[in-house]
Amino acid sequence: MFVDSHAHIDGTEFDSDRGEVIQRARDAGVSAILNIGTGDPHSGALERAVELAEAHADIYTAIGVHPHDARLFDDAAEQLIIKLRTQSSRVIAWGEIGLDFHYDNSPRDVQMKVFQRQLHLAGEANLPVIIHTREAEAETIKILKSHGVGGNPPGIMHCFSGSSWLAQQAIELGFYLSFSGIVTFKKAEELRTIAKQVPLDRLLIETDCPFLAPVPYRGKRNEPAYVVEVARCLADLHGMSVAEMGRITAANFARMFRL
Ligand SMILES: [Zn+2]
Ligand SMILES: [Zn+2]
Repeated sequence: MFVDSHAHIDGTEFDSDRGEVIQRARDAGVSAILNIGTGDPHSGALERAVELAEAHADIYTAIGVHPHDARLFDDAAEQLIIKLRTQSSRVIAWGEIGLDFHYDNSPRDVQMKVFQRQLHLAGEANLPVIIHTREAEAETIKILKSHGVGGNPPGIMHCFSGSSWLAQQAIELGFYLSFSGIVTFKKAEELRTIAKQVPLDRLLIETDCPFLAPVPYRGKRNEPAYVVEVARCLADLHGMSVAEMGRITAANFARMFRL
């Protein structure tokens, strides 16, 4: 039993074979997928993510405005997310939200404002948040400490690839750390050292598909079935079987979202 705690399978990359992708995940032992709705909130992207989760008992969804799209966040987007979340019990998290100072697709001051606003709203809705942070560790922690951490429990630092300082801060704030295929990459020695030190009850696994396919699929389109390879890598680090790592991370996911 494995849970892919971060996937983007509502996107066009999967339009031609989404059903088969979902079936392959089930065949690989993936019992649940958290699909993340992102993109322009005025384009129908968030509604599409909710529809996908409504159609499958083993798919849940998070919706929010990604830091890339922060410049598109407005009152209408805010009202839409609240409405969708009220209408559908399949919406279990607010995200992904955060800061991305690597791509800077939205101005940094706008990213920070929109991150703060969505943290506040997630807190009001008591929804865990999915945090995306890249090259903005200090700013991310500062905002979490000053504007609240979302729901209770706070949520997930997704696709964790930060420093041991960030890991420590996030754990102290109550976050779970989710590792992606990056942890399997040959050059990710430092990240594996950090992953080894994360308490077992705070570990999660994800694909972040269609990107970041783990070894041995690196370079291909990623899909939820491949989350097993992330579990295998973490299992080796923690000295246990892949099945046991699957069970532990699936139990963590269920506990966080009270499923
Ligand atoms: Zn992300
Ligand atoms: Zn994502």
